[in-house]
Amino acid sequence: MKLIFATNNDDKIIEVQALLHEKIKIQSLKDINCFDEIVENKKTIEGNAILKAKYIYDKYKVNCFADDTGLEVDALNGLPGVMSKRFSGLDYSAEKNINKLLSMMKSTSNRKAKFKTVIALILNGELSVFTGICDGEIIFTKKGSKGFGYDPVFKPIGHKFTFAEMDLETKNTIGHRAKAVKKLIEFLSKK
Ligand code: IMP
Repeated sequence: MKLIFATNNDDKIIEVQALLHEKIKIQSLKDINCFDEIVENKKTIEGNAILKAKYIYDKYKVNCFADDTGLEVDALNGLPGVMSKRFSGLDYSAEKNINKLLSMMKSTSNRKAKFKTVIALILNGELSVFTGICDGEIIFTKKGSKGFGYDPVFKPIGHKFTFAEMDLETKNTIGHRAKAVKKLIEFLSKK
């Protein structure tokens, strides 16, 4: 079976392909000559994952899936959420995003937060959604240099270290994206 992953992020393609049985072949948007900029304008992480998968299915009529991830902070009513990537504005960077987050939380003791990944799959026209959540807390100052995005300030529940202090293998056993991908794989392996 051939499945298009609606991304051009090679790391994500390799990560998911490695987890899938070899009879399921993942291809990227480049592989189907899709260079469109898909505007992610929905108000939820689920909405944007579904939007991307539907865009590809409607245009190319191929089995496909798309993912979207966000950090939801309790004390900020779920922000940055769907705005995680561009939280600090058009001129965003991971450092600016983290600085904005820490400054908005500087006087709050409620540090609860979660990462959420949603994968939307369209297989033979039918939509399925898989969610992976990693609960944790936002610490007061950055720790660690691995990973990306908000990793230096996110400490998963029950762990001593931030995502940025962990190796990828450890992050992948407890992380939001890995949990959503595992659900996708379980579903596909029954097909
Ligand atoms: P995307 O939907 O995977 O592109 O994620 C959107 C944004 O969420 C990224 O640009 C990062 O800022 C943040 N993000 C997603 N996944 C992670 C993660 O595993 N660690 C830290 N930040 C993440």
